[in-house]
Amino acid sequence: MSSIGLEPRDMEWLEKGVLGIHWNDGHKGVYPVRVLRQQCPCAACVDEWTGERRLKGEEVPLLIMLMDVQPVGRYALQFIWSDGHDSGIYSYALLRTLCQCEICRPVKQAEPRSRRLM
Ligand SMILES: [Zn+2]
Ligand SMILES: [Zn+2]
Repeated sequence: MSSIGLEPRDMEWLEKGVLGIHWNDGHKGVYPVRVLRQQCPCAACVDEWTGERRLKGEEVPLLIMLMDVQPVGRYALQFIWSDGHDSGIYSYALLRTLCQCEICRPVKQAEPRSRRLM
């Protein structure tokens, strides 16, 4: 399936620390901000050549906050974080794959060592 033309139509806080993104195809994305921060795609967090993730999940503060969101062209969003990090450009296609909603999430729960912190 092509992701061309996919873009966020609206954003809102679903609850504290959980960003909701309404996509133009009608999907309502659910994004706990800490997950977004952990998945930051910038060169400091991911090795550009190997694709290896340098940022470890537990290095992200538990109470990370999203301070600001800036649109980047018509293809991505830049998030400004409370830990001072702001170099991650999240393309819409990437954002869509990071969705943690009930529909998207079961598919990605294959990782055996992921634990729920509820
Ligand atoms: Zn980063
Ligand atoms: Zn979803």
